[in-house]
Amino acid sequence: MDEKKIEEAIRLLIDGLGDDPERPGLAETPERVARMYGEICGNIGKSDEDIIKKLPAERHDEIILVRDIPFYSVCEHHMIPFLGICHVAYIPKESISGISKLARVVEFHARKLQVQERLTSQIADTLMRDLDPKGVIVVMDAEHLCMTMRGVKKPGARTVTSVVRGIFRDKIATRNEAMSLIGNR
Ligand SMILES: [Zn+2]
Repeated sequence: MDEKKIEEAIRLLIDGLGDDPERPGLAETPERVARMYGEICGNIGKSDEDIIKKLPAERHDEIILVRDIPFYSVCEHHMIPFLGICHVAYIPKESISGISKLARVVEFHARKLQVQERLTSQIADTLMRDLDPKGVIVVMDAEHLCMTMRGVKKPGARTVTSVVRGIFRDKIATRNEAMSLIGNR
């Protein structure tokens, strides 16, 4: 990430908006915004390979579900946030993951310029590759500020995406069991 370039761009944006980038309230804003992007979009181009640490499953081959993982991402069409909760379910084959690592996978992929559909798939792809489970379901339920602050202005509208892989795709009963546990409200 090139923080200097971001600072220049923000100065230009403020100027373009018709405000004065040199006035005291705004003078340090470009630097602040550049630092902020380093955090909220800091994973662009980074590898997701070392997040999951496999632990032996010890014959647990039922659904493991982590519900309500909060996430914050940035809509690539408008560059303002979309945010909500993510549910991750999987059935292990030989390995399980520490619960916190699942949340880290969600956070890792959220911190890029994203669309919700791709974000949901990327989380599932990382888990399928690194945990090699029997199957994965990822459900994301989000509010897009580009829908609620501007344009159609529909506060409260939720966008729900799901990605289903492996056994959850092949076995309807298993998928339904996971979906009822998720019980997205
Ligand atoms: Zn948008």
